[in-house]
Amino acid sequence: MHVLVTGGAGYIGSHACKALAQAGFVPVVYDNLSTGWADAVRFGPLVEGDLMDRAALDAAFAHYQPVAVMHFAALSLVGESMTNPAKYWRTNVNGSLNLIEATLTAGVKHFVFSSTCATYGDQDGVTLDEDTPQMPINAYGGSKRAIEMMLRDFERSDGLQAVIFRYFNVAGADPDGDVGEQHIPETHLIPLMLDAIDGKRAALTVFGSDYPTPDGTCIRDYVHVCDLVDAHVLGLRWLQAGKGSRIFCLGSGQGFSVREVIEASRTVTNRDVPIIEGARRAGDATSLVCGSTRAVKELGWKPARSTLQQMIADALRWSRKAPYAK
Ligand code: UDP
Repeated sequence: MHVLVTGGAGYIGSHACKALAQAGFVPVVYDNLSTGWADAVRFGPLVEGDLMDRAALDAAFAHYQPVAVMHFAALSLVGESMTNPAKYWRTNVNGSLNLIEATLTAGVKHFVFSSTCATYGDQDGVTLDEDTPQMPINAYGGSKRAIEMMLRDFERSDGLQAVIFRYFNVAGADPDGDVGEQHIPETHLIPLMLDAIDGKRAALTVFGSDYPTPDGTCIRDYVHVCDLVDAHVLGLRWLQAGKGSRIFCLGSGQGFSVREVIEASRTVTNRDVPIIEGARRAGDATSLVCGSTRAVKELGWKPARSTLQQMIADALRWSRKAPYAK
């Protein structure tokens, strides 16, 4: 059984492909390799194509006859989305619309979508769950919220069944070292911190120390990428069991400040993190912490690897391996 995985050459998508292969599916990666890596496609075929290329999408559906779509492909940098919103609205929203139309034309009704806690905006320390109102404060979150709404509309019009996952901060890497996180440029906290520890960059800049949190830095909920992709397989089975469209938040349920993540890295590596106290980054919410009870209760999700120590240790092992070649 083929599953079309857009963005399957990227960080989360490549881990999802491994989980799908282990669950008996054949992941067909559809990726334009703008940020992904051909090297990361290890568990099924790669179709090099763009979401804006409807003919290429139709051809991929016709050739592989997938039973479902997992849609990871997107631009996902909060900071960049603040300075170039057009890029985010065009790529994420237009690309997703094209994909949804191709999916329906091919007669496929099961769709798993990567959404984000950035759709919530800045909500003053409350635990965020599926019922929390969405009020995005950056174009990345806005574009993802728009796609969620699009999926609801296509359910009404065409019966598309979508499991929507709202991710919190995804971290770590495959413990076997088959795939991992590699971005150019890297913008995420944990890989940047590990690079600073290993002397691959001079220091980590802490973006803002004047937030209304106990230590003044932003609080995030970090979830291990392997736990996250396990939920996707469960979401696919949920759809195949006829349980219908559903939204699930995916996080560990625990928030950590930037300084707490730095401290955890010091403990794991036994090395200090050189830091620079910098200004706030535009678009950053103060605190994003997840209530993931629904995924645990309804999907039977068990996020067993999402401790800071485990995520940092797995990310470190990956970052010290040879990176993907472009
Ligand atoms: N962060 C930081 N320095 C960096 C990168 C990130 O202080 O070089 C902070 C960022 O402001 C946020 C947290 O770390 O509070 C997580 O940021 P990341 O970019 O990893 O993920 P995001 O929350 O944007 O999805």
